[in-house]
Amino acid sequence: MSKLFALVDCNNFYASCERLFAPQLIGRPVVVLSNNDGCIIARSNEAKALGIAMGAPYFKCEKLLKARGVEVFSSNYALYGDISSRVMSLLGQLEPEMEVYSIDEAFLHLTAMAGGTLTDYGRELRRTVRRWTGIPVSIGIGPTKTLAKVAGHLAKKNEALQGVFDITSADVDEILGRFPVAEVWGIGRRLAERLTLCGVTTALDLKNCGDGWLRKKLSITGLRTAMELRGVPCLTLENCPVSRKSIASSKSFGYQVESLTELKEALATYIEQAAVRLRGQHLLANSLEISLTTNRFSKTAAHYSGRAVVTLPEATASTTVLIRHALPALSGLYRPGLCYQKAGVVLFGLVPETFYQANLFRPRDQKGGALMAALDQINARWGRATIQHGAAGFAKPWKNRQEQKSPAYTTSWQELPVVKASLP
Ligand SMILES: [Mg+2]
Repeated sequence: MSKLFALVDCNNFYASCERLFAPQLIGRPVVVLSNNDGCIIARSNEAKALGIAMGAPYFKCEKLLKARGVEVFSSNYALYGDISSRVMSLLGQLEPEMEVYSIDEAFLHLTAMAGGTLTDYGRELRRTVRRWTGIPVSIGIGPTKTLAKVAGHLAKKNEALQGVFDITSADVDEILGRFPVAEVWGIGRRLAERLTLCGVTTALDLKNCGDGWLRKKLSITGLRTAMELRGVPCLTLENCPVSRKSIASSKSFGYQVESLTELKEALATYIEQAAVRLRGQHLLANSLEISLTTNRFSKTAAHYSGRAVVTLPEATASTTVLIRHALPALSGLYRPGLCYQKAGVVLFGLVPETFYQANLFRPRDQKGGALMAALDQINARWGRATIQHGAAGFAKPWKNRQEQKSPAYTTSWQELPVVKASLP
């Protein structure tokens, strides 16, 4: 028997994380807001049932949420990241062949088949994840990743399936005939529009398109998707994460920032965060791009947005070097008298540490690497920004608004949940 793929998807992941340590929220509508409390990025089923839209700006629906008694949370990525790694490491123990696809999704190769159907096995997996981590998941099973995704959709939407659907146990064409092409994995909104114009509206239509036509209309990626819908595996499990092309860190400020000093502190902070990720993946950056923007929606001031690319004298992963090259470029972008809303940095031209190419005219900085390693170790052990660059500032008044954030229950000693018990 050939191996099957299972897609394990955490249900309403951020909302489910919030419920873990606040069981009084079970059965109640919960939403989670994006960075800076901008818009809604996660909804519990009860919130979905109230008609609250994904991506809705918070300021527009704040009243409605209050009126309906919806529990609102700022995003708490320390919590979500930690719960995600618990779910993923558990899945990895249960099924060793696994690809972590996103913070709340993983593909597995199903091998265990000791009696019973795959659906039974999926239900067992689901129960185990629920019992060990507290997170509800849906599982879709299929002969290809794309079909497992389709199955996952149905498992989530259709309550009668109890969270698990094995597409090989059903009439695949009948299912694909009712599945909108826009929801097929890998078919974006723009592509779906183009396909609809050609009369291809369901996954079944796409599956039945001719190969030549597909290659001409959609390129090789579209053909691959159609093949996958036919049950021919074209995508494999990516056990090792694909190496990244760039690392970005940017955020909106908690209020409109005018001073260059504060902008510099914010940019240095974002560089610190990006550089930690760079070193974590054993990469060096050859270039960086910085950006600065004012509020696009301001009615009183003109919109300004500036970008600058800095090519570094040699590939580096040193926060100090990155900051030293980025800050003068920021001064060049800065226009006095404007109110800025957002700054960001993108590190690119990434190469593995082992590919380091020496600069003929400068000796390699040997001490920097050891310093950064020590810095990362200390911050990993004692918390982010225990030691930081002075350039990143200390008060950070520009920092994000996150007024309704729950505690970092699982990653901070100060914020551990307290259990109260009394003897009978
Ligand atoms: Mg999910």
